[in-house]
Amino acid sequence: MKKLEYIKEAVIARNPNDSEFLQAVEEVLDSLELVVEKRPELLKTGVIERIVEPERQIMFRVPWVDDNGIIQVNRGFRVQFNSAIGPYKGGLRFHPSVNLSIIKFLGFEQTFKNALTTLPMGGGKGGCDFDPKGKSDGEIMRFCQSFMMELSKHIGQFTDVPAGDIGVGAREIGYLFGQYKKIKNEYTGVLTGKGLDWGGSLARKEATGYGLCYLMDAMLKDHNLSFEGKTTVISGSGNVAIYACQKATELGAKVVAMSDSGGYIYDENGIDLALIKELKEVKRARISEYVNTVPTASYTEGCGNIWNVACDIALPCATQNELDETGAKTLVNNGCLALGEGANMPCTPKAIEVLQSNKVLYAPGKASNAGGVATSGLEMTQNSIRLSWTFEEVDAKLKEIMVTIYHDISQTAKEFGVEDNFVIGANIAGFLKVANAMIDQGV
Ligand code: NDP
Repeated sequence: MKKLEYIKEAVIARNPNDSEFLQAVEEVLDSLELVVEKRPELLKTGVIERIVEPERQIMFRVPWVDDNGIIQVNRGFRVQFNSAIGPYKGGLRFHPSVNLSIIKFLGFEQTFKNALTTLPMGGGKGGCDFDPKGKSDGEIMRFCQSFMMELSKHIGQFTDVPAGDIGVGAREIGYLFGQYKKIKNEYTGVLTGKGLDWGGSLARKEATGYGLCYLMDAMLKDHNLSFEGKTTVISGSGNVAIYACQKATELGAKVVAMSDSGGYIYDENGIDLALIKELKEVKRARISEYVNTVPTASYTEGCGNIWNVACDIALPCATQNELDETGAKTLVNNGCLALGEGANMPCTPKAIEVLQSNKVLYAPGKASNAGGVATSGLEMTQNSIRLSWTFEEVDAKLKEIMVTIYHDISQTAKEFGVEDNFVIGANIAGFLKVANAMIDQGV
């Protein structure tokens, strides 16, 4: 009989429609069964009941005027999940699919991820159901200004420090920061992912993708493997995917497929990353245009089918639940050796089961994509000491953090008798740090 079933039931009763949030909580609670077996006294502290309930959830109206003079209304969110080990920290997502369940699941995961980085950051997440696709720069700016009008009441360098996520890159962070400065009349490190001329950190843009590869590299080496010569498939073609592709290639992999929400490209000669950057970072174009320049490559409609491309290493870097049981079975049948999550919760629970039962090395996002927030933490440090480190300095710190995370989750998995189960390792290692801080601080 599971000891934490009553907590699961209470969370389901309180959040009946929040499927993504429930998915994330259930996975963590399952891992924590092993902890309460060893430390039953934890149950008396109520720390598990407290950790699954956000400290604060904010929802707000975001009205803005489009280029035709028509008033549009969106819904904004900020979930301040846990501040036991530092100010709330986590990105903002602008995507039409955004709702409270998605923001809550992201904030919950962020709490453990931030703990794993060893930096003093609590967990939070925010966003809006606004769709940046096809909007003019003026529309994006007016939307960001309206969004910050309300968000500014709830954030601050010592309270809550947002960053980017899907649909929020350097341009959006610029407009958000400019508006915050006007409202508050203060210049502080209230956001991360800032421009390099105005408080940003070198290597922040690269950090999540690079960090993913640093952690995977450590994991592969620990199992006498490496990226060298490995055929690799990366879903997505946004910030995380692009820099994962760059670092994986540098480490000797051959990346043969990438995608966007429309479909995927396959290039047996290895992806031309300069072209992807031109299409995605400069032109904001569709990935299908890749084949106009590289006629030997092919484009297939439907992004979910990217997992049909045979590979040794898979790096899902697009969005939640993008890889299901069927995709995982295909990867296994094609001889996939390792999978590292660049996105948050890209694998469904069934997919994870298939991967783990077939001994595919599987790195969960809360560990493997922690490089972005870790470097955001380094950006906060540089803002505080009013100094900028070089690219090499930040990159070296990032690498050290990612390798440390790998050893931490691997060691924890061993201690709890589940060697190479990095899901349990990450959940327990992240949980213990936050839970111990919460217990120290009282109810
Ligand atoms: P971007 O907006 O830069 O890129 C997102 C990519 O994923 C695009 O290629 C996009 O395609 C694709 N995508 C988005 N939504 C869907 C969908 N519903 N179905 C299929 N494809 C989709 O975002 P990021 O690269 O920043 O983020 C990607 C993932 O990584 C997210 O899960 C995010 O939470 C996670 N993450 C990001 C971090 C960061 O530092 N940026 C840090 C840690 C995790 P299209 O352009 O067609 O929409």
